Amino acid sequence: MIPIVRGCREMTRLAREWRGAGAALGFVPTMGALHEGHLSLVKAARARCARVVVSIFVNPLQFGPGEDLERYPRDLEGDREKLAAVGCDAIFSASAQEVYPQGFATHVVNERLSARFEGALRPGHFRGVLTVVAKLLHVVQPDVAFFGQKDAQQALVIRRMVADLNMPLEIVVCPTMREPDGLAMSSRKGRGRALALSRALAAAQAEYASGERSAAALLARARRELEETRGLSIDYAALVDPQTLADLERCEPSGLLLVAARVEGTRLIDNALLGPPAG
Ligand code: AMP
Repeated sequence: MIPIVRGCREMTRLAREWRGAGAALGFVPTMGALHEGHLSLVKAARARCARVVVSIFVNPLQFGPGEDLERYPRDLEGDREKLAAVGCDAIFSASAQEVYPQGFATHVVNERLSARFEGALRPGHFRGVLTVVAKLLHVVQPDVAFFGQKDAQQALVIRRMVADLNMPLEIVVCPTMREPDGLAMSSRKGRGRALALSRALAAAQAEYASGERSAAALLARARRELEETRGLSIDYAALVDPQTLADLERCEPSGLLLVAARVEGTRLIDNALLGPPAG
């Protein structure tokens, strides 16, 4: 049975013990309801690090009023079994009171990268994400932490925080895991019409592959796919610089296509890099 650690101090003590014994420590923060996307991060951590900690915490601070905090799926025992199958040394699952004790008043904010997209549509979201990730990184003190490209803007703001605040660890961003039909795996269930998101990305990728470089044309192609889907409402679709998230005129050498939509009562996001990865 994988141990479930509930206390911050206990988690830090265990992590220090492992690191003190010379083991590289890998860390995968999650909100649980684990699927193959999360497990791919755990496998990447396993491959790199002798010890792996997975946190499971539905962080109230990153949900806005009217969002799905209460409805967010929770299945700690199911998650524990899935983690046992891939291998992990401890699950860190603290209560909200443990993470945010009475009097909690300090937050981490990125005022630039969080101004658009998820940050604009979900005020306070990245403040909640960065604050909890900073706290988790202080508690677990990993050598390497693993995040998914599925949440592209989140991965960028986390990388920025780690650099800006001199946090002594490496950040690894792993590729998006998809269902066989292309749908990005998510704890929020969406099927059928949700496929429009990955179809829109694939359509723009095909245009890019056939030589199109105009951002307006590539974006129009993706939008058409979304607009043709009944019952889908677009939150945003944008083709931006993969590092700064600024709008592009030309997709050269590469661009990050971000889409978000509400489909059948579920809010979904997805993205694809058009062109070669930076560096
Ligand atoms: P969450 O539980 O949604 O907070 O996600 C925890 C981590 O898993 C984040 O770094 C996500 O980007 C990552 N993740 C979620 N879905 C996927 C996916 N389909 N493929 C790869 N990583 C994912």
